[in-house]
Amino acid sequence: MKITKLRLANLPTPIKKSRFLSNELGINLYIKRDDYTGIEISGNKIRKLEYVFKKVLDSGFNGVITTGGIQSNHCRATVAAATSLGLKSIVLLKVAEAPKIEGNFFLDNLFGAQIRYCTPEEYRTSRNQLMQDIASQESKMGNNYFVIPEGASFGIGSMGYFEAIEEIVRQEKELGIKFDTIVVATGSGGTYSGLYLANKYHKLNKRIIGFAVCDDSEYFVKQIDGINKESLEYLDKEVDISREDIEINDKYKGIGYALSRPEELEFIKLIASKEALLLDPVYTGKAMYGLYNEAKAGNLKDAGNILFIHTGGLFGLFPKQDQFVF
Ligand SMILES: *Cc1c(COP(=O)(O)O)cnc(C)c1O
Repeated sequence: MKITKLRLANLPTPIKKSRFLSNELGINLYIKRDDYTGIEISGNKIRKLEYVFKKVLDSGFNGVITTGGIQSNHCRATVAAATSLGLKSIVLLKVAEAPKIEGNFFLDNLFGAQIRYCTPEEYRTSRNQLMQDIASQESKMGNNYFVIPEGASFGIGSMGYFEAIEEIVRQEKELGIKFDTIVVATGSGGTYSGLYLANKYHKLNKRIIGFAVCDDSEYFVKQIDGINKESLEYLDKEVDISREDIEINDKYKGIGYALSRPEELEFIKLIASKEALLLDPVYTGKAMYGLYNEAKAGNLKDAGNILFIHTGGLFGLFPKQDQFVF
C-alpha cells in the first residue's frame, strides 16, 4: 500500500465464535467484532477514516464535510474523529421530516458538528454538489474543508478494509483457523471494495459475500467496481479486478434503507436473547438475517469457516426501540 494512516481505532478487533448460530445452523460461524473499534468512533467507518484523516491533516485542511442519513454511523464517526483531532465538521443529513434528536444524530450534535439538511431527492441527485457548494462558501470565510463522500466509500477509504484483511490473515495464524467465506453488510460499498482488493492482492481465494441493505446487486457491483478502480492507485502492484466475482446478495434488504420489517426486528431480538449479541436494524441485523436464511435454505453448505464482520451500528438500535414487541 502506498499510503499511511493515523491510529484512531482499537485494533486488532477480536474474533469470536458464535455459539448459538453455529449450533442452530450447523455451520462454523465466527464474528469479527469491528463494533469494538471504539465507543465514539465505533463501527467499520473508522477503519476507512484512519486513512482519510491522515490525508486531511497532511494536506492542511481545517475541517471535513460529509453526508448520510439522519442516523448515519458514518457521519457520527466522522464528527467524533474530527473533533478529537481538533478539526471542524459539517454533516449534510438526508431528512424527509423534522428529525428527533436521538441516536447517532444526538451524538453528531453532542460532538459539536454543524448540521445541514437536504431532502431525499436532493440527496439522491446532488449530495456531492451540495457538499462542494458548502465547501466553497466556507472557503470564502477562510475555512478549508475536505469533502468525504457518503460512507467514506472512495479509493482512500477502501484501504481501511484492505488492511483489515491483513489483520484477519494474522489472526488466522494465531487462532489456527482459515476463514473460507467472509460476510459483510453492504451500504455504500467501500467496505466490500477493500476486502475484495486485498483478497485479490494477496491471492487468498476467499469468497466474500456482501448483503445489500438497500438498492440492488447491479447497483452495488457498479459502485464497488468504481471504488476498486479508484483504489488501484494506492496499491504498489497490479490487481486483477473484474465485476464478475463481486458477490452481492440483495434478497434481504427488505423494505428499504433504515426501514425494518417485523421479522428483522424479531431476529435481532432472538440473537440478543440467545447469545447477547447486539445487531443493528440498518446493517448487521439485515446481513445476519440474510446469512441465517441462506444457511437454513442449505445455500452455505460449501462455505467452510465463515467470518461475519460485525460492522457496528449500535446507536441506530435505540431510535427503533419502540418498534420492538416484547
Ligand atoms: C456503513 C455501514 C455498513 C456498510 O459499509 P459500506 O462500506 O458503506 O458498504 C455496514 N454496517 C454498519 C453498521 C455501517 O454503519
